[in-house]
Amino acid sequence: MTKNTDTTHASCSDHTLAEQLETALAAQARAEAARDSLLDGIESALEGFVLYDADDRMVAFNSRFEELFSPRVAIGMRFEDLIRSAVEQGLAPVGELGVEEWVARRMERHRNPGPPFKLRLNNGTWIRISEGRTRDGGLVGAYTDITELEEQREHLEELVKATEAATARAEAAQRQLLDAIESSLEGFALYDASDRLVVYNSRYRDFFSGPERAVLPAEPFAVETPGAPFELVIRTFAESGLSSLDGQTVDEWIAQRLERHRNPRGPFNLKHQDGTTIRVSERKTSDGGTICVYSDITELEEHRHRLEELVAKRTAKLEQRTQQLRKSREELERARDAAEQASIAKSEFLANMSHEIRTPMNGVIGIAELLEGTELSDQQRRYVSIILHSADTLMDLINDILDFSKIEAGRLELETIPFMLRDTLGDTLQTLAKRAADKGLELACHIPPEVPDHLMGDPTRLRQIIINLVGNAIKFTENGEVVVDVTLVGQGDQGARLQFDVRDTGIGIPDAQQERIFEAFAQADTSTTRQYGGTGLGLAIAAQLAERMGGPMQLDSKPGVGSVFTFAADFGLRRRKGRRARCARQNCAGDVHWWSTITPPIARSSRKLS
Ligand code: ADP
Repeated sequence: MTKNTDTTHASCSDHTLAEQLETALAAQARAEAARDSLLDGIESALEGFVLYDADDRMVAFNSRFEELFSPRVAIGMRFEDLIRSAVEQGLAPVGELGVEEWVARRMERHRNPGPPFKLRLNNGTWIRISEGRTRDGGLVGAYTDITELEEQREHLEELVKATEAATARAEAAQRQLLDAIESSLEGFALYDASDRLVVYNSRYRDFFSGPERAVLPAEPFAVETPGAPFELVIRTFAESGLSSLDGQTVDEWIAQRLERHRNPRGPFNLKHQDGTTIRVSERKTSDGGTICVYSDITELEEHRHRLEELVAKRTAKLEQRTQQLRKSREELERARDAAEQASIAKSEFLANMSHEIRTPMNGVIGIAELLEGTELSDQQRRYVSIILHSADTLMDLINDILDFSKIEAGRLELETIPFMLRDTLGDTLQTLAKRAADKGLELACHIPPEVPDHLMGDPTRLRQIIINLVGNAIKFTENGEVVVDVTLVGQGDQGARLQFDVRDTGIGIPDAQQERIFEAFAQADTSTTRQYGGTGLGLAIAAQLAERMGGPMQLDSKPGVGSVFTFAADFGLRRRKGRRARCARQNCAGDVHWWSTITPPIARSSRKLS
């Protein structure tokens, strides 16, 4: 029985055990399932997860954690080994601390977990580490990759810094601008698009402040809060009696001022009652606001008024003077016209008189020459000779006066007839040869072959010029020579320009007299007249003739050395039958240098130079 009982008891306890075992197995299965789903959950977490037991050995970790420290992570590994392995891999941000110090600090933190902290691994990954104790003395750690977040944070920080710097700069610039505006000598104000005062300087306020009242508040810069509307500012100003209003009512004045302000057309002036003049310049800004600049131009205006008065006075004086001048010019013109008339009348009278005198003079000379041919005593012959000489001199003088008065009266006409240059010059110089020979002077003429011989022009007037120049040269030369040089300046189909130089080795002409020498009646000095005689008309006539023929006569002279008179003359060219036609004179061929020493008719010599 006992046995039975025992058996019963045994089978009963077996049954209970089996039940218990079953229950335990079921509980284990549930626990394992719960652990597996916990592990699955941990595994699927985005954070790295690790669990250490009370001995600080790794009990569990997920793949994310392994990724962070791979490949050195293993179950049973101690935390210290893990961080040392991270140091070896170069992941741990040891920095300047050194390995041991860094490991010690990390261990300290690990043993006494506090709030979560951030770590930047050397590969650039930012990790947020959160560690906490488990009830059995173990430790659970969660590792979150916050690299992206950190980068965004850094970026945001940079942005904030940049914004702060820009704001500081803008504030500094604004301060500078406000300082500049404030220190400006001009009144300055800015109104916004709705015409409210944004900013203005003290100077601007001064323009609107009378002795009793201030239209604008004392603080000029009201940037933050919109200030008074423009209309109110000007209304207060107009009503204060500070403005002169230009005879308008307050409302009319305000309407006009508002119109100008809204449609700025350029600067204008505002007058204050006290006489101050303000120049107002208004411009629209790009955002529809208005900038107003007020300048005190009272002094300038006063100065301008003074200047205007001065100019008006001067103008009146000038006008008076101009009228006087006009009057005297008219008087002078009348006097000049009268003088010109008188001069023309005088020249005509002289021309007529000279002409009239020449007729009886020719009679005197003719009869004297006839008388010379009759039988006369020596004394009578001397008298007749004197009569002839005096008559010749008188005739020359009359001819000069006649020419001069013709030139003066503009009645001198030049001829254009054919003539041969070398013959003309040869004959002309021949008439002077005796005078040169009497003074022991050599008289010569040089014409190179290229100078054409068959010319069209006025040989009489050319002769007259040459006679005057060579005559003077002989007259004012005591030793040496007188030479006439002809050169070709230029030649075309129709004509040629020749230059004539008359050189002497005579007394020369002082510089001071050279300028006036071509004027009528001018002589180098009065002693010349006493010594050599003459009227001072010859050169004036020669210079006028030369001018008519081609160009102004020029003089190059040195006292004591000699003089050179130069003039150019234009001539027409005649067609020649043979290319090398010769001139009539035996010794003046056109194709050789004609160098002729002119001697008086009886003993004449000439030489050719090729
Ligand atoms: P005049 O009949 O008095 O000679 P000109 O008009 O021919 O009148 O000359 C004016 C003056 O020019 C002369 O009186 C002389 O003083 C000066 N003169 C002219 N030619 C020469 C010269 N070749 N050498 C020096 N003086 C000269």
